[in-house]
Amino acid sequence: MQSQIKYIHQQLVDKQISCVDLVQQRLDRLKQNTHGSVNTLLEADALKRAQAVDAKLANGESIGLLEGIPFGVKDVFMLQGTHTTASSAFLKDYKSAYTASAIQKLLDAGAIPIVKENCDSFGHGSSNENSIFGAVQNAKDSELVAGGSSGGSAVNVAKDFTVFSIGGDTGGSVRQPAGYNGVYGLKPTYGRISRYGLMAYASSTDCVGPLAKSVEDIRIVLNAISGKDVKDQTTYKSSQIDEGALENTAGIKTVGYFKNLLDNEGMDPSIKADFMSALEQIKAKGIEVKALDFMDADTLVSTYYILAMAETASNLSRLDGTNYGNRIGAENLIESYAVTRSNNFSEETKRRVVGGNQVLSQGFSDEIYLKSLAIRDQLTADFERFFDDVDILLSPVTPGLPPKVGDSLKDPLAMYLSDAFTVGFSLGQLPTLTVPQGTATGIQITAAKTDDERVLQFAHLLEETL
Ligand code: GLN
Repeated sequence: MQSQIKYIHQQLVDKQISCVDLVQQRLDRLKQNTHGSVNTLLEADALKRAQAVDAKLANGESIGLLEGIPFGVKDVFMLQGTHTTASSAFLKDYKSAYTASAIQKLLDAGAIPIVKENCDSFGHGSSNENSIFGAVQNAKDSELVAGGSSGGSAVNVAKDFTVFSIGGDTGGSVRQPAGYNGVYGLKPTYGRISRYGLMAYASSTDCVGPLAKSVEDIRIVLNAISGKDVKDQTTYKSSQIDEGALENTAGIKTVGYFKNLLDNEGMDPSIKADFMSALEQIKAKGIEVKALDFMDADTLVSTYYILAMAETASNLSRLDGTNYGNRIGAENLIESYAVTRSNNFSEETKRRVVGGNQVLSQGFSDEIYLKSLAIRDQLTADFERFFDDVDILLSPVTPGLPPKVGDSLKDPLAMYLSDAFTVGFSLGQLPTLTVPQGTATGIQITAAKTDDERVLQFAHLLEETL
């Protein structure tokens, strides 16, 4: 697929379409909310921004590549003055007091946010059903889930409601819905994009990630939002990835895959077969393919959920109705906290807060929390070892196909296991991208830390190979 951003940019420059018409068309499609992907439309503000772009063009001024391009924002990002609900009852009336750094960079580049997008509440989920706005429906088949937690963002891109969207990925929330809906979704190296203004779920793996319809659009957006930010001390300075650099695939000679995870009994046979045949096509390009042995799915998923629950229990402790969110008054302060939290958090979020506080509590933390941190160190060492041998790691995105709406809610543990392929790379803080090729839910491309460029190069190669 060609770059939508460049295509639309050219249409604007050639005056084939006005920016107001472009934005209005997308807003009209979103208004119908056919797939449940919309939390709030940003109509008035978006049209005002579009008018400013049209005025510049009418004046004969030049515009930047992202100027006037309509995009979507997962409803966990601060955007000053807009409702920022995290799809939760807790924050359903909350408005952002400031703007997230990544979103501010897009505003500075002239891109136009048009919608706050449905997601799993506080990022908790893999199906986008944990939301006060209802389930998001899959772009390919409305009976199926969109995936989560950035389900609204993936569907909006897949259905051309937005040109690109900005999601958040803690354990797979950009990559998994990208795979379920057939679009590209990147989780960059942890720290490449500032988390300032992204509502914290699990701070040690939270990443900002773009979703789009081409590798080129992912590259353009990634360049616009990357960089060191004094407001997030985990960010680092990265260089821009040039367009020409994507052609440079000669350095990629060896690809590794996790044989043990594919042999897992939870694996859908069609995804496994399609993945193996994709490896054959890659081999035919002269690239060596190596089978690797990694931690088993249960260890990966348990380690991730223990740490993610511990971190979210801690992060969400700030929500007690005092400073943020809907407060429910009661007899005394402690009662008020209890009623406010019990009534405003969803079942899934409460499961995680209770679980997280449990693993952090005295008597359990050594056995569970600290042990998970030790496994994470082991995993980091494993990845370093793998990347001594291979240039890229390839894996499916999900072990199975998207379930029917309603099914995952019956069995939360089964839902957690559907994250088997995504959570390891989150714990390792590696750059990893879903491409909508190879299997019914895509393929995930991963490179060593900070080598996001290599991920995009390989995606470019797959565009031509698969
Ligand atoms: N599905 C995973 C979870 O529920 C990942 C979610 C995310 O990345 N925000 O934790």
